[in-house]
This record gives sequence, structure tokens and C-alpha cells, in this order.
Amino acid sequence: MEKFKDCAEGFTLAEAIQEAQRCLNCKVPSCMKGCPISNEIPSWIAELAHGNFGNAMSIISKRSSLPAVCSRVCAHERQCEGHCVLGKKDVPINIGRLERFISDFDTEAAISHESIPAKDRGRVAIIGSGPAGLTTAGTLARLGYNVEIFEMESEAGGVLMYGIPEYRLPKEVVRNEIKKIESLGVNIHLNLMAGRDFTLDELFEHGFDAVFMATGIGKPKRPAIPGINHTGVRQAIRFLRRVSLYERGYMSRQEVIIGDDDRVFIIGCGNTAMDAARSALRMGSREVTVIYHKTADEMSALRAEYNDAVAEGVKFMWNSSVVDIIGGEGTRLTSITVETEGRRVTLPADFVMLAVGSQPAARIVSTTTGIDIDDRGYVLTREFPYGMTTRRGVFAGGDVTNRPASVVHAMRDAMQVAQGIDDYVKALKLMESIENAN
Ligand code: SF4
Repeated sequence: MEKFKDCAEGFTLAEAIQEAQRCLNCKVPSCMKGCPISNEIPSWIAELAHGNFGNAMSIISKRSSLPAVCSRVCAHERQCEGHCVLGKKDVPINIGRLERFISDFDTEAAISHESIPAKDRGRVAIIGSGPAGLTTAGTLARLGYNVEIFEMESEAGGVLMYGIPEYRLPKEVVRNEIKKIESLGVNIHLNLMAGRDFTLDELFEHGFDAVFMATGIGKPKRPAIPGINHTGVRQAIRFLRRVSLYERGYMSRQEVIIGDDDRVFIIGCGNTAMDAARSALRMGSREVTVIYHKTADEMSALRAEYNDAVAEGVKFMWNSSVVDIIGGEGTRLTSITVETEGRRVTLPADFVMLAVGSQPAARIVSTTTGIDIDDRGYVLTREFPYGMTTRRGVFAGGDVTNRPASVVHAMRDAMQVAQGIDDYVKALKLMESIENAN
């Protein structure tokens, strides 16, 4: 499993303090403008520069429930670091690695001590424990809510645990972040699927004041290409899940299926495609090629992820589309036909992986009345209270509403939804107290 180990190195203590001391503590910090969750970057860097690690962690925790995750998977070069004033003439502050240093230090040494408020503001159920669910849980627990998360998998974390490979985000980092959220008093129930094992109506009957759907997009799209239903065509997100289960010892090498000496083609060019391509190489594939119908400048993958994929040997075909998939006997393909630069070429292939996006599954909306969706299945929500669906007391956020595009954007959305839930429950409690008084 060495191949799946965390690739990036962290700072040592001396390096972290030295890097923090380069920060100008700008009066108008442009780095904060680049941070989707408005992390108070200069304040915690200043504390770090003075060796006050506990204070630095407390400042980070005000805006983020998943700093160790963000420090590893955020697009820092486009966000905080891309806006750092030092980057105009010199090297920007390495904010991502500093955040990683502080959050990892906190995990090892428990440097921050949060005072947890009494859980008397109300009860909130959260469906799903990905970035949106965990962020809302942490935000509401810090406000004094009694929060329970319902997760269908056997381990919490959603895409952080089952979608992002170990070399980019070690599972132990995710587990530690989840432990910190649980230490705020959040209860996580595993192996329970909404719409199958319980309904939202039952949650309200059990006394929850609000329910937050943070269920993500679990239904991968399948383009209409001849041969697309052959068993040699797989969903990239499901392959990554298998790799994750294999890494954690829950699945055998054979069950991962794709790998040993295979020629793999991936359709799509987002971060899932990069993760799947690099994981396929790590699983022993002979050749991995990403096929994208647009140019390199138009891909949605992070440039850093693309560069790493190229360095590891992933090939790319731009302005190209798969027009035919030819299957052989058994689970593998024989070849694919690709239209590229006005001509058709047939290439030997063992597997095709699809990474062309996903859409929400309908399990909750089909078992709950009053939740409206758009024509593509995304849940409709309103601006006030932020994130509430057309069903009173039911909120939605993250990918299921088609708003965010990355982990940190899902977190920003989830923080706003937490505010919407707080607004709603406060109004609900006020109405109840007026009714009880009459
Ligand atoms: Fe420090 Fe750069 Fe932010 Fe200025 S913009 S406060 S130098 S990190």
C-alpha cells in the first residue's frame, strides 16, 4: 500500500514558524478574499509566527470544521495563495502547508480546547457525513445544537473517505477530523440509509426540529455511446470507492478489478478523472489515457492535479470523443473508437472509466412529500431561511443542490445552511413558546 501513501510533505516546526514570519499581516488581507470560507488567515498566521499554536488553531476552528482536509485538497494556488500579495513579486505564503502544520499538530498534541455550549438550542438530523454534513454538524454543535448524523456507509466521511484517494487525503486525517467533530457532542449513526431504513417524516416524529439533506450526488451519469453497457465500462467514482475499500483491507485485489497490466481510458477531465487515472496506474495499469472533448484550458481538474497526473505517466487526448466501445468475451473490452482531430482511430482497450459527473439519487425525495426538484433531480432551495427546501424544516446543501464545485465550496454552502437552520429553529421555538403561553 506504499503507493497510496500521502505524497506531499508537511512543514517541520522550525520551517512553519519561519514561513509564518514571512507574512506581512496585511491590513487588507487579499488572501482572505481568495478563501471561500473567509478563514481569518493573517490572524492565525500571526499567532503561529509567535509560537501560539493553540490560539492559531482556535482561530482556524471559528471558520472551518475540516482544516486538515482543506489544507490537503483545496486549490490553494487559485484561492488564498493565489491572492497573497507576496505572490505578485515573490513566492506567496504557503498557507495550505501552514494550515496543515497547525491542524496536524493539534491532532497530535491536542493544543486547542473548545468550550462546548449546552445543547439546548434544538435538535437537528443530518443525512450524510461528507464535507457538507460534517461542516454543518460542527457549526451547529458549536452554536449549541444537539446534532445527529445518519450515514449509509459503515464509516463516516462520504467523498472524503470513499472518493478521494489515500495519496491525496489519508484516511487517518479524515478519521481524526471526524473524531474532533464528535468531541463537540455530535452523534454519528452508521449503516442507516434515508429512504430505505427510515424516512424524514419519522425523524420529525422523533422530535427533530430540522433535517439537513447533505446526501451528495450518488448517481453517476452515463453518456449515450454504443457499447456503453458492456461490463468493461466502469464508473470512475465506483472504482475509487473500491480502491479505498482495498486500501483499508475491506476488499481483495481481485475485487478492485481494474489494474494489472490493463489499458485504461477515462472519459472526462475533472478531479475525479485525475484521481481515477492516478489510482489506476498505482493499481498496476499498463497505460492510462484521459479522453476529453475540449482543450486542456477548459478542463475542470486542478492544474496541480493535472501536472501530477502527467508526471506520473497519465496520457491525454484533447478535443477527442469516444464514439464506439467494442467488448470482448468476459469482463474486458477489446477496443474503442475515438474521434480525434477530424479522424477516427481504433485503439486496443481493456477498460473504459466514466468520469462525466453525477446527479442526485431520488431516495429521499421519493419517500418524502413536498420536496421539489428541478428537471435534472437537484433539490430546490430558497434564500431565506438559506437552504430550506419546499418542505418546511427540511434543508439541503452541497452537491445535492448543484451549488458547490469542490470540498471547500461545499463547506461554504454548508456554513450558510447552518445559519439558515439556526434562523429557522429560533423562529420555530419562538412560535412554540408564544403558543404555549396562550
Ligand atoms: Fe500574509 Fe499574504 Fe495574507 Fe498578506 S496576503 S496577510 S502576506 S498571507
